[in-house]
Amino acid sequence: MSSRLHLDAATPLEEVLDQAGQPQDGSSSGLSLLSSPNVIALGEVGFDCTVGNWEREGKVLDEPFRLADPNKPIILHLRRTAEDKYQRAPLEECIKIAHVAGIPPHQKFHLHCFSGSFKELTHWTQTFPETWFGYTGMVASFDEHQLSGLRSLNAKRFVLETDAPYLWPRPGRRGINRPRLLGEVATVVADARQSTTANVLERTYINARQLYSV
Ligand SMILES: [Zn+2]
Repeated sequence: MSSRLHLDAATPLEEVLDQAGQPQDGSSSGLSLLSSPNVIALGEVGFDCTVGNWEREGKVLDEPFRLADPNKPIILHLRRTAEDKYQRAPLEECIKIAHVAGIPPHQKFHLHCFSGSFKELTHWTQTFPETWFGYTGMVASFDEHQLSGLRSLNAKRFVLETDAPYLWPRPGRRGINRPRLLGEVATVVADARQSTTANVLERTYINARQLYSV
């Protein structure tokens, strides 16, 4: 996949997404595409704590962080281990890397597949207040600490994700996750926040547009 195509305002969005949306080599030439008005975010980038050398993977994150644009969200993929229920290790490591890279406090983030508790959510928000938290069908199996985080979150700062084909949102049933099951995610999030599915869908539609400036 090439990330060195010419982009201008006339480049069809599909072409941008197909050819430049995910630079595979992490090179600065690929990342300089961020300055194009057709590129609305950087990501997803991050690391996976379920692999052996994840600390090394984390160090590589320094490069995209140094080239980030504070007004274009960085979509963060911070995969935790099964034991680290609140995502504590990758969240803390990511904050350290961001500080070393000089990420400013007003950098926009989309923290995708978030599963932290109230404590992690508060710590992250104090560090990077311009963050939107992505909630998935995992909410159906959240404990009280995770639910209290979701309940306390400013209504303008969460978005919905299916993470299809992963994170099947219907506990007790089997199947393959699909983007069309987003409404089910909205329902479990609505239950957690003592809201309605319609309100959550309406709110997160607005939130996602604000996050990505679209
Ligand atoms: Zn991901």
